[in-house]
Amino acid sequence: MMTRSASITIVNVGYRSTNYWVVSAGRSRLLVDLGWPGTMGLMQANLERMDVSISEIRYGLATHYHIDHAGVAQELKLAGVRLLVLDVQVAAIPRMKRWTKPQDHYLDITPDGNVVISCEESRSLLEGIGIPGEILHTPGHSDDSVSLLLNDGSAFTGDLTAPQWIGMENQEVVHASWQLLRERGATQVYPAHGPVRPMDAEGPVLEG
Ligand SMILES: [Zn+2]
Repeated sequence: MMTRSASITIVNVGYRSTNYWVVSAGRSRLLVDLGWPGTMGLMQANLERMDVSISEIRYGLATHYHIDHAGVAQELKLAGVRLLVLDVQVAAIPRMKRWTKPQDHYLDITPDGNVVISCEESRSLLEGIGIPGEILHTPGHSDDSVSLLLNDGSAFTGDLTAPQWIGMENQEVVHASWQLLRERGATQVYPAHGPVRPMDAEGPVLEG
């Protein structure tokens, strides 16, 4: 059985139809997904509104390197947030720029200071900031997609496609990622878009 850690809190500081989750053990915090390009001011305002100081964010994690998930990663780094990168994501970082236009004011993510780890190393890193859980490689929406799974069953899945919505994606890969999450104890899905959803046998239960 998973045990719920009483001290873990989850707040959404999202905007523009995208959820950005602050997972905290007290004031030791992890930011999951990192804004749209050129929106550092908006991100900062939303963090302040939720009483989150940037200096309390120990790491920033992008579930994958698409522009609405890692758009202000570099600005956050410059503000003192360490960028946590899984080894399966490294190659995707420079590719993200292709999807930005000059008017987006996207600031290139440099390798400087990035903390690159494997999924196997994630549990001990998270333990070090008081957050019990692990990071899993959950491809399907993109090859570099990862999910944060807390010991209490909360799963931060980014854009991992709900089984009912599979289109262009490789169905087997998507199903395998949901299967992995379920096997590791995921019960509640915190997606990057839309409301929090419970898991069922296939994946998250969608409404409507
Ligand atoms: Zn995406």
